Amino acid sequence: MIDLTSIKDIITLEEALDSSKKEVIGRYRTYINPGLASILSMVGYDKKFTKAHGVNVFDSEGNKYLDFLGGYGSMNLGHNHPEIIEALNKIADFPNILQISMSSVAGALGETLANITPGNLKKTFFCNSGAEATEAALKLSRISTGRKAILYAENSFHGKTLGAVSVTGRKKYQEPFFPLVPECFSIAYGDVDVLEKELKTKKYAAFIVEPIQGEGGIIVPPNGYLKDAEKLCKDNGTLFIADEVQTGLGRTGNLFATQYERVEPDIMILSKSLGGGVMPIGACISTEEVWSKGYGSRDRCLLHTSTFGGNARACAAGLKTIEILIREDLATNARIKGESLLKSLKEVAEKYQLVKEIRGRGLLIGAEFYEPKIVKGLSKEYLAGMVSGILNQQYHIITAYTLNNPNVIRFEPPLIVTDEHIDYVADSFEGVCKKYKGFSGIALNVSKRMIKKHMGFKKLK
Ligand code: PLP
Repeated sequence: MIDLTSIKDIITLEEALDSSKKEVIGRYRTYINPGLASILSMVGYDKKFTKAHGVNVFDSEGNKYLDFLGGYGSMNLGHNHPEIIEALNKIADFPNILQISMSSVAGALGETLANITPGNLKKTFFCNSGAEATEAALKLSRISTGRKAILYAENSFHGKTLGAVSVTGRKKYQEPFFPLVPECFSIAYGDVDVLEKELKTKKYAAFIVEPIQGEGGIIVPPNGYLKDAEKLCKDNGTLFIADEVQTGLGRTGNLFATQYERVEPDIMILSKSLGGGVMPIGACISTEEVWSKGYGSRDRCLLHTSTFGGNARACAAGLKTIEILIREDLATNARIKGESLLKSLKEVAEKYQLVKEIRGRGLLIGAEFYEPKIVKGLSKEYLAGMVSGILNQQYHIITAYTLNNPNVIRFEPPLIVTDEHIDYVADSFEGVCKKYKGFSGIALNVSKRMIKKHMGFKKLK
């Protein structure tokens, strides 16, 4: 018999939902990640959010926020879309995880993905996140081509698992984990000549690339780059992996960002919004040819698997997401609203010294700030985070900086935003630029907040 009296304490779901803001922060500091808890507190995200619908999130004090971060691209439909919740209810009695069967829902999502993705993409491997989809794509490339090397772009972001971080172009994320997966090499993003030189060595199994670099700071490559890259890959026997984890499913104003250049990838990876903002899901979709060379026999078909991959609820959310995206043509809304936000933010940038550039496509927009001179006690890593903190505290707008370039704030709202939302965000952004003018003003605001918080933390102990 297990001695149940030795278990100190368990917290029920009901108690968890009832916990105070102080308890939540305390638990994050003690049991989850104290560094993260401190950063979130610094920029005013130590609130207890309790409700979310569409573009809005609400805290326990009844305050309403506009979500222009959109779960780093997971919220294309907005929070808790009623049709996604209804879809999940519809299959409440369905066996969610029964690997020893063929799920009608997973099969249907596989066919739907083959129908909506560009070119000859056909076979889907389901997993649970973007990084897992990257892993699946890298392994499939190696086994399918018999080559080992992988080419990726500097400043890229493909995830943080060991394989994915080996092709994620930021030293900060790679170096602490050396040695990484061998034979992964990086080149400058957007440079066709250097790409051609590398591919001509004919050693690469795959070139993995984002059609627009998201975490890299919303970097749109030069026109024609993706099409040229596709051709160079084909000419040199290298597979073209399009990472549409963040850009896919309407985000940039087309269903997929590669469609702007009519690129037909050999492999495409998706995740984030495929789960309708509710379920975790990832997908690695490849052509029949690539798939069958890799796993197309009974002997090889189980070389890469995932326990939860293809579970019915995630796939039901995926099917419903695609149905809504297409029925409501949310990609077009992203294009129209994105153009309007881009224009308004550019007008603000021209007026104030703080903003270096506004760029992006559809509703994937970045605002880059001038790099600050050294300010005592504050890392330049967090300038955009500080602006984001002010937007949160003073205007109740949720945003965040991009992971590889902390000088860039992203505006990445659900694709259902209205003109009113866009105008409010542009006006608020102007409000911040006007009030604080330079980095020192912003730093001062955050320093004050940090001191206050520090005193608050002491009280918490
Ligand atoms: N690929 C891209 C383009 C991403 O933006 C991300 C995450 O931001 C990933 C892959 C990794 O996804 P995940 O965080 O679900 O592992």
